[in-house]
Amino acid sequence: MSGMSHILSAVAWPYANGPRHIGHVAGFGVPSDVFSRYMRMAGHDVLMVSGTDEHGTPILVQAEGESVSPQELADRYNRVIVEDLTALGLSYDLFTRTTTGNHYRVAQAMFKAVHANGYMLSQRTRGAISPSTGRTLPDRYIEGTCPICGYDGARGDQCDNCGNQLDAIDLKNPVSRINGEQPHFVETEHYFLDLPALAPAIGEWLGARQGWRPNVLNFSRNLLADVRPRAMTRDIDWGIPVPLAGWEDNPNKRLYVWFDAVVGYLSASIEWARRSGEPDAWRAWWNDPEARSYYFMGKDNITFHSQIWPGELIAANGRGTHGGTLSEFGDLQLPTEVVSSEFLTMESAKFSSSRGHVIYVRDMLTRYQPDALRYFISVAGPESSDADFTWAEFKRRTNDELVAGWGNLVNRTASLLHKNVGTMPELGELEPVDTAALAASAAGFAQVGDLIGAQRQRAAVGEAMRVVGDANRYLAQTAPWKLKNTDPDRMRTVLAVAAQLVSDANTMLSPFLPHSAQRVHEALGGSGAFAPMPHIEEVDDLDLPDRSYPIIAGDYSAQHGTWRRRLVSAGAAIPAPSPLFVKLDDDIVSAELDRMSRG
Ligand SMILES: [Zn+2]
Repeated sequence: MSGMSHILSAVAWPYANGPRHIGHVAGFGVPSDVFSRYMRMAGHDVLMVSGTDEHGTPILVQAEGESVSPQELADRYNRVIVEDLTALGLSYDLFTRTTTGNHYRVAQAMFKAVHANGYMLSQRTRGAISPSTGRTLPDRYIEGTCPICGYDGARGDQCDNCGNQLDAIDLKNPVSRINGEQPHFVETEHYFLDLPALAPAIGEWLGARQGWRPNVLNFSRNLLADVRPRAMTRDIDWGIPVPLAGWEDNPNKRLYVWFDAVVGYLSASIEWARRSGEPDAWRAWWNDPEARSYYFMGKDNITFHSQIWPGELIAANGRGTHGGTLSEFGDLQLPTEVVSSEFLTMESAKFSSSRGHVIYVRDMLTRYQPDALRYFISVAGPESSDADFTWAEFKRRTNDELVAGWGNLVNRTASLLHKNVGTMPELGELEPVDTAALAASAAGFAQVGDLIGAQRQRAAVGEAMRVVGDANRYLAQTAPWKLKNTDPDRMRTVLAVAAQLVSDANTMLSPFLPHSAQRVHEALGGSGAFAPMPHIEEVDDLDLPDRSYPIIAGDYSAQHGTWRRRLVSAGAAIPAPSPLFVKLDDDIVSAELDRMSRG
């Protein structure tokens, strides 16, 4: 890659029906933040957006269970999620939500554009309704006997026993998983996204993709083998009204939650621009063919990002087989890459909040450092195959790699400088061992950066830790503590070289470990923002009166263009260091397993 670009970092929208667990942030959160921080440091103009996804049946079901309105439930978990993602240091330019006036307007405008270009088909269909509420009962909320294999726990959308895709109407003895009642199948009218008319353009786009993780690209291409129109409206009273005459005022017809959730990437970019005072600033990330866009998510969301969202964009651009004209949003660019991770299991079992087999981000951050969790996800996360989180491995990685490897290097170097010199020394005359160490470290920038750019973060953090290991070996080899009385000039040069190696490693590790990066910067006598952090702001809705909500925002400009060796500043005072990372006791493993088994 060369040249500076506008880079859209489009991060999956966490669903606001509860707090998020560490599997969620392993899939969308930490990888997107590592990527965005690196891209800013490499000099690109990054726009990182997301928000909470607040429509759909699960929010309604959960709200009814807790006897609150869906908006009250969404308000509660929006705030919890905003606080957790901020505490983890995820550097969103804007983290908003789907219940804003701005999002409603943009989602409705996209629907109208898709409809006006002829890609929304009105069809009468037989749909399941809950007799007691009159609402659509989504296929996955219906359970019954599989018509193909006879398995009696089949869901309305698929049978987990034989793997076949099903239609709920074909299940034998169907019942609602929400309240056990028997669904009614009634005739209803809905709008369907005409995917067959969009498939050739989606296929052309997928055919030109390069560098995607092979499983993501293969999965996406396979989806095209069986495209059918997909319903983009629902019989439900919670969601965005369908913006068409005869529908708009019907309180029981709403946009399908996934139609509007993916529009969130666009609406959040527009909200960010409006809040920045330059309402058209979003277009640099969306209308410029040179801009690049990366969408981060777990693998269960690939369909929506490699088929539904590109389909909506192609339809709004008027580029499917029915033709059409550009919408008010101009020529919207399709995703450069869909960056999907696999699943994180925990102690060998898939996460399940209902069975208590889950670790919430908040619980983790009350007991452990955010960078310890970020490090585990980066080095051992589900990047291209499922990965398992175990407490024993979390403890081992934290103690052996963060505490004994990186933390120890920083502490030893800063402590030798503090005790023996007090300020950052000048580099004196260099010996071959010094120049070799400095050259090997400098080479790490291109290697680590290229790996992050290629979405290979596990290898990237491994390469950064290679630089750490080399620096530890340099200290062992040159043993500056033995030189204090015999050759103090040489000692000062060795310590200055060691400090430069620590500074290099810190820059390379900062996308992964931003909280400790700031502290290492200060331990070496640096000042100012080194790894800027996001913050929470309470803002008024731009369009709706009397409504305010928390957003995540931040000024990350201090990182712009800093992916390079920064010379340590000679003369700076070196304070007495304190440990970077907390060493974990052996008994945290049994204590955490015990906590999990109690649920
Ligand atoms: Zn079956």
